[in-house]
Amino acid sequence: MSEPILTVVVPCYNEEDILPYTFTKLKELLISLINESLVSDRSRLLFVDDGSKDQTWNMIYKEVLKNDLIKGLKLSRNVGHQNALLAGLNTAKEVSDCIVSIDADLQDDIEVIREFIQKYQEGYDVVYGVRKKRDTDTFFKKTTAQGFYTFMKKMGVDIIYNHADFRLMSNRAVKELERFEEVNMFLRGIVPLIGFKSTSVYYDRKERLAGETKYPLKKMIAFAFDGITSFSITPIRFVLSLGLISFFTSMLFAFYFLSLKFFGNTELGWTSLITSIWLIGGLQLTAIGLVGEYIGKIYKETKQRPKYIVDIDSFTVPMKMLINS
Ligand code: UDP
Ligand code: MG
Repeated sequence: MSEPILTVVVPCYNEEDILPYTFTKLKELLISLINESLVSDRSRLLFVDDGSKDQTWNMIYKEVLKNDLIKGLKLSRNVGHQNALLAGLNTAKEVSDCIVSIDADLQDDIEVIREFIQKYQEGYDVVYGVRKKRDTDTFFKKTTAQGFYTFMKKMGVDIIYNHADFRLMSNRAVKELERFEEVNMFLRGIVPLIGFKSTSVYYDRKERLAGETKYPLKKMIAFAFDGITSFSITPIRFVLSLGLISFFTSMLFAFYFLSLKFFGNTELGWTSLITSIWLIGGLQLTAIGLVGEYIGKIYKETKQRPKYIVDIDSFTVPMKMLINS
């Protein structure tokens, strides 16, 4: 069997601080993989610039001109980690047998890619990189992430515990992604749905060496919320049962107050009244808000907007031709 063509897809958003390190490390790895005949010499690194505002694209572009192993894809604007990744996967799949996705900050152990390829050779279509422990994460990130995974499981979403977007996918697995036409691509939830033979490889996650996390709390909450509402209708069912329970409880209260009025002391305070108004009002607002969330999703999906737009693609078109044109 000939060696597989590997493409490593790296989404980058404002990563100028870390990129020189990332280029060096990934190049070293790819060269040794090629030399050891683990992958074909047609294997490449594909850096996707997700509409960065700093020097990220310029750096990628210079690297592309210098080194044939490195390719660049420039998106027309910032579309977020998941869509940038998808852009990379879609571009890479044209020529690759297998594709590895990894974050630009190299918090994930790149040596694990060797094991990914081994598993791929054994016939796995998807290999998940799973963090063994989260020692390097802050206490806050650890607990919120833990809560997120537990909650997703409870909501009935099949998600790999402690797996970020560090994984290998075979060409045919990436091709199947195309058939998921939703605008909110939450890859961690979608990839397991493909259902091909998959396995996990365990590694230790490191600290970010330079630059800042592109996932501050606000984005993390949005990400978690998106993940939950894109995959599960459990919240909406929960609201329904909550509504039913409060309805029956209020019926009981009404019965109680009426019996007091006819058979007992009618001097009722306004406390119970005001409490129930607030309670029902609150419940209704929550319910409406949640329903609105789903309607918002439907609204977005019906528009079928493109998930990303490629500005410059040096992967399929040689960079020199792009510059001369
Ligand atoms: N990223 C991206 N677009 C964005 C935000 C992030 O392409 O809008 C990339 C980022 O450059 C990095 C990866 O997604 O390669 C993960 O981001 P980060 O490391 O900041 O997330 P964390 O590891 O803190 O969860
Ligand atoms: Mg990171």
